[in-house]
Amino acid sequence: MDSTRAHDGTHEVVIGLEIHVQLLTASKMFCGCATAFGAPPNTLVCPVCLGLPGSLPVLNRRAVELGLRTAVALGCQVHPRSRFHRKNYYYPDLAKNYQISQYQYADHPPLATGGVLEIPSDGRPRRVAIRRVHLEEDTARLLHPAGAGGAASSLVDYNRSGVPLMEIVTEPDLCSPGEAREFLNAIRRLLQFAEVSSCRMEEGTLRCDANLSLQAPGGPPGVRTEVKNMNSVRAVERALAFEAVRQREVLARGEVVVQETRHWEERRGVTFASRSKEEAEDYRYFPEPDLVPLDVDRAWVQAIRETLPELPAARRDRLIATFGLPAYDADLITATPAMARFFEETVALGPHPKAVANWLAGAVTAYLNEHGVEIDRIALTPARLSALLRLVDEGAVSGRTAKDVLVEMIARDQEPEAIVESRGLQQISDEATLRGVVDQVIADHPGPAAEIRAGKVRALPFLVGQVMRATGGRANPEAANRLLRERLS
Ligand code: ZN
Ligand code: MN
Repeated sequence: MDSTRAHDGTHEVVIGLEIHVQLLTASKMFCGCATAFGAPPNTLVCPVCLGLPGSLPVLNRRAVELGLRTAVALGCQVHPRSRFHRKNYYYPDLAKNYQISQYQYADHPPLATGGVLEIPSDGRPRRVAIRRVHLEEDTARLLHPAGAGGAASSLVDYNRSGVPLMEIVTEPDLCSPGEAREFLNAIRRLLQFAEVSSCRMEEGTLRCDANLSLQAPGGPPGVRTEVKNMNSVRAVERALAFEAVRQREVLARGEVVVQETRHWEERRGVTFASRSKEEAEDYRYFPEPDLVPLDVDRAWVQAIRETLPELPAARRDRLIATFGLPAYDADLITATPAMARFFEETVALGPHPKAVANWLAGAVTAYLNEHGVEIDRIALTPARLSALLRLVDEGAVSGRTAKDVLVEMIARDQEPEAIVESRGLQQISDEATLRGVVDQVIADHPGPAAEIRAGKVRALPFLVGQVMRATGGRANPEAANRLLRERLS
């Protein structure tokens, strides 16, 4: 059972998500400025993305292609003609006082509507409906440098202003905070494999707002609140769990839920109502007069479909079919495209696919989780992993020692051979050396030794363990086992 599924006997949780992703384009949505991350503030700007009078936007074709890829991957209906709109609001993160976006009018549709994404829910697949996929521009970044007594002024960095954004809106189909988490994981995986976005929530290339309401079974929809300011998948899940409990308590007191925007505060673990730019409900959408309608013909959609990169489900199935991987390993290895690529590149260097899968799904994934990093950002390469597996195969290091070597390789950015050499981690297979250790272990543990002599071999693994311990895990376990049997027969 999904422990986050919220029921109080009378109301069901209803959740919808609005997901913004930055598209992997070299230039901005309506001008030629670069989209590079981390440049000095206000260096990637021009009259268009600064909103200077008289400047005219020109649509980025690549951004449309990435939007179409997403639409095709989600099985959406692509509209042959869509329009851009002005979404008007007054806030310093947009110099024009409007954002060029798309809205869902019957006569002025967005890029694509409909579609579905499958997520696991209580161990079964569940289909979540997509309302629309539309294109828009990102806003500038506001910085509030903390001075004495809080920020006296705010700074604006327009480098992000005009960066291509895609918004994916779901139907309110999600029934629990846990399902919201699964959806985010699934959409991130899909968009990464489709090479549409890097989808790094910590860098803001994927951002998620959520709405939540409580509904009596068969009753009318409840009043919903919008929850914002969540910076990780886990924060989304926690914020929604908090909001479900809060609304339930409001109803239990006989009060009504107020329709409002609430901000998640990570540190205190609460949502709170706050004034925000979105409180002006009327954005006065109207068609953008500076852009012609966006026409997408069938041939273009077909070309996108034919060149779509391999999506996660297909990749997973192919790994199972080609390399005989168990479903569990194949799932972990297709968690990110970087991991899947790493697997295939390592296997191409010769090691047994199952051994590579074991290491990636086991020790490597454990390291990545522990340090909160991704495989393409650590000093492990397919060549190094394959070299390490060769050392294990040849008996140069024991499996146990190899796990330590792996961590050292990553920490020191070195080849496995260099670490084994410099740290003296070679496996001890030399019989004379091992025999001395074995004799000492037998002398130290007369009880178990006597049992084995009497034919009770159950104590043998204990003594092998003692040999491993005495050699810091470097003894060849098979040799230790054989020598112990010889000595105690
Ligand atoms: Zn620009
Ligand atoms: Mn938006």
